[in-house]
Amino acid sequence: MGARLLKKRLLFPLRDKNQIQARLNSVESFLAFPGQRKDLQDALDRVYDLERLCSRVVLGLGNARDMAAMKVSLGQLPAIKDLITAFSTPDLLQDINDKLDTLDDLYQLINEAIRDDAPVTLREGNLICEGYNKKLDELTTLERDGKQLILALEEKEKATSNIAKLKVGYNKIFGYYFEISRAQAASVPDYFIRKQTLVNAERFITPELKELETKISSAWDERLSLEYDLFIDIRNRISAQSTRILDTAHQIARLDFLVSLAEAASKYHYLKPKITQDNIITIIEGRHPVIEQSLEPGRFVPNDVHLNQQDHELLIITGPNMAGKSTVLRQTALIVLMAHIGSFVPVESADICLVDRIFTRVGAMDDLRRGQSTFMVEMNETANILNNATENSLVILDEIGRGTSTYDGLSIAWAVAENLVEKNDKGVKTLFATHYHELTDLALTHNRIKNYSIAVREWNDSIIFLHKLIKGATNRSYGIQVAGLAGVPDIVIQRAHEILRNIENKEYNQDGRPNLAVSKKNTEKTNTPHQIPLFPPKEDPLRKLLETYKPEETTPLDALQILYKAHELLKQ
Ligand code: ATP
Repeated sequence: MGARLLKKRLLFPLRDKNQIQARLNSVESFLAFPGQRKDLQDALDRVYDLERLCSRVVLGLGNARDMAAMKVSLGQLPAIKDLITAFSTPDLLQDINDKLDTLDDLYQLINEAIRDDAPVTLREGNLICEGYNKKLDELTTLERDGKQLILALEEKEKATSNIAKLKVGYNKIFGYYFEISRAQAASVPDYFIRKQTLVNAERFITPELKELETKISSAWDERLSLEYDLFIDIRNRISAQSTRILDTAHQIARLDFLVSLAEAASKYHYLKPKITQDNIITIIEGRHPVIEQSLEPGRFVPNDVHLNQQDHELLIITGPNMAGKSTVLRQTALIVLMAHIGSFVPVESADICLVDRIFTRVGAMDDLRRGQSTFMVEMNETANILNNATENSLVILDEIGRGTSTYDGLSIAWAVAENLVEKNDKGVKTLFATHYHELTDLALTHNRIKNYSIAVREWNDSIIFLHKLIKGATNRSYGIQVAGLAGVPDIVIQRAHEILRNIENKEYNQDGRPNLAVSKKNTEKTNTPHQIPLFPPKEDPLRKLLETYKPEETTPLDALQILYKAHELLKQ
């Protein structure tokens, strides 16, 4: 129930500072008493999905197992209520406690009526507890103790008739009967009805014997039907209390939600954000809550982000592919969102202002079913942002204009950034990641725009990702190096470098067209056809050794050992 509420609250975050603060205070209180929190979590763990159970009951689908689950759940409520008071009970927890109806009457009803070992199907019997219904108890006794009752009747008739050899028998035709030897048959009481005469014996029935027989044989059927009726009645009585059950379920969900936020905060080292109304976001050492978990502890590089309406309203973030631009953008949006549901956040400290909406334009996905291309989806989202963002919104734009020609894309990106920073004269707090380095010139035209980039270090022909957001722009994408790291064949990478050089040198042919297609290597060589080697190239062990290590993940000691191994290989 808490998980469902968490999802709902992520989709509908709060915009009221006091409400957010109340949740944060509750989380703080849970963190202050870890022992009691554990007890509360254990009790909550034993509560089944009351909302689902209740809807099954209301829909007439609930079986005895559902009742048993409901009983176990309701059984936890008094303890949960007690445990809440163990915390410093901030207002919100007090409110939950006040509203938490422990539903004792329903617990008692199920406890007295429904057997713990009841089967799933309702027509097999064994649903209702002994002692709940007098008639049912009689039927159960009859059915269970039928033989004893017949024997007891035999004893009784022996005594009244004074015939010691009277004995009860059973056959399929007559059912139960009393058998008496022919010699004694004459002295049977007058209510004995002769049924059969044998060579040496007579068989009789009595009204009481037949009544008992009928009772015994129909007891089972009657019991099944009575148990069913009783069960349906109990289910209807519980169903009539569904509003109370759902209210309690909601209080449990609220509690579960807050306890889980505290659990996450303690497990993943999240801290309490300060919620403000000054339109400033300051995140110190913020982390991405999901990516952080996918890396080894300590490997995630935290980053600071500062946004205000004076001089840090729109941050243009440049940097190589894979540097961590999207990560910074998304973690900022996530931290702000988490703060708005009342959660602690993955930071060393954070001042988060209230935002009215968080707009994102990240990772365009084709929506071919709706007949929209990648670019169209991207532009739809951008249009939505431009039409609806206010000075209180947070916008993250992860590249705009990629899906079209470079100059169209660049122009759109530039105009979008300008529009956002000028919107209603106040602008919109925006993080804008881009590979269009031309956009960094925007900072020269608007004081509220600042350039940031993600640092990398060049290492030989490759790069090391530092994942650190730093002030200032970068003008390199290292796209070709990243393509190399991704395994694009060397021959393609070399050719890409060549083409890049051509573009950078602005080489044009006589027609004024760029010389992209011209390969210096080919022009220098004579036009001999490409010769296929007779022998395939030998595998280079040195190269193989180096390929197995990632420089950015190698310790100095490992590096030294690799060097020794490399020398060994050279000597061979
Ligand atoms: P592109 O421009 O190609 O979209 P990008 O700059 O947006 O790349 P991200 O997608 O943010 O790069 O990051 C790529 C990968 O780098 C992440 O999946 C993650 O593994 C790693 N990474 C990103 N940021 C960090 C960080 N701060 N600390 C550690 N690893 C990080």
